[in-house]
Amino acid sequence: MADWQKLLRQRSIASLQQLVEKFGPEQFPDLDRLQQAIDNFELRISPAMVDLIKEPGDPIWRQYVPDLQELEVVDGVPDSLNEDENSPVPNITHRYPDRALFLVSPVCAAYCRFCTRRRKVGDPQKIPMSQFESAFQYLAEHKEIRDVILSGGDPLLLSDRRLDQILSRLRQITHIEIIRIGSRVPCHLPERITPELCGILRKYHPLYINTHFNHPDELTAPAVQGLGMLADAGVPLGCQTVLLKGVNDDPDVMKELMQKLLAARVRPYYIYMCDQVAGAEHFKTTVETGLEIIKGLRGWTSGLAVPHFVIDAPGGGGKIPLLPEYVVRITEDEVVLRNYRGKRYVWRQPRDEEALVGAGGREPEYDFLPTFEAEPAEKNAKKAKRRNKRVA
Ligand code: SF4
Repeated sequence: MADWQKLLRQRSIASLQQLVEKFGPEQFPDLDRLQQAIDNFELRISPAMVDLIKEPGDPIWRQYVPDLQELEVVDGVPDSLNEDENSPVPNITHRYPDRALFLVSPVCAAYCRFCTRRRKVGDPQKIPMSQFESAFQYLAEHKEIRDVILSGGDPLLLSDRRLDQILSRLRQITHIEIIRIGSRVPCHLPERITPELCGILRKYHPLYINTHFNHPDELTAPAVQGLGMLADAGVPLGCQTVLLKGVNDDPDVMKELMQKLLAARVRPYYIYMCDQVAGAEHFKTTVETGLEIIKGLRGWTSGLAVPHFVIDAPGGGGKIPLLPEYVVRITEDEVVLRNYRGKRYVWRQPRDEEALVGAGGREPEYDFLPTFEAEPAEKNAKKAKRRNKRVA
């Protein structure tokens, strides 16, 4: 057994009894009902996440410690993204034209209580490892698929040998250009990122990893070191963050997270609205909260630190981007825009192409003309007065 497997087995919290021993019985007044929540969805808190919990109810606790609110289902559903309906063969979801999701691992180092795939992960029966053949065959037959995303569960919890085999089989399918791995291992179990693992991954480029961090505290020294090892192995790193009530629904927390990710060589890729999953509804927050977070990032920090904010449409509609209102008005002649400070600017639309050619092919104008409509007339008048004085 590899060291990281031993660590996971020996130091994780994986039962209600261990949870009570660690944090005290006073934190868990209704053990029977809490056990029900655990029966619905596996419990495991990896050693790194156990060490990060500072107090009950903090952002790390909320992500991993089961809660009675999981039993209150309002409008959540088990498969909110309709992945099973878009599954032509076991373990494959094929929704988008040129890419497919391949579920290769039923387990994770820690189980996030908000998990969209909580109906499947944690139970080896539900992502059958013995049925990969039909998945490989499907991918080989569908030449339009040029991008395969390995997910689960967490693909990096597979043994080195198994992962090597899967990647090698995928690379034999010549129309697959890109392999992506979705993994929370850099956060949950950074000890898993070994030189041997990096040696395997570097054989199969172009290979990308989208990792998943939700709070700045998760960027621990071992996590940053693991991410550095992956980056040194030539793996471009992205991050998919889920917007979660009581965890990161705050512009300052998100800004710190995005900045820390960039410093750890990870490009923030998505912030997702929490999906409408049964058992995870207490994590939902409003779209307006997400838009405020994006407003707090765009312009106020590096553009590289600003991810796409999306809703993965309920029912399987795919990711739909959401943007704060930067466009005030579009007409044939101009576009009125609002910048990150709320000031308005006008961008002139290009003139009619044919008319321009007829007039000697003059280039259209693309100048930004600052206006200050957003400021009160009185303030503008004072400014004009000062300007006139200076000119005089
Ligand atoms: S690591 Fe990913 S798949 Fe596993 S429980 Fe967390 S969100 Fe779900």
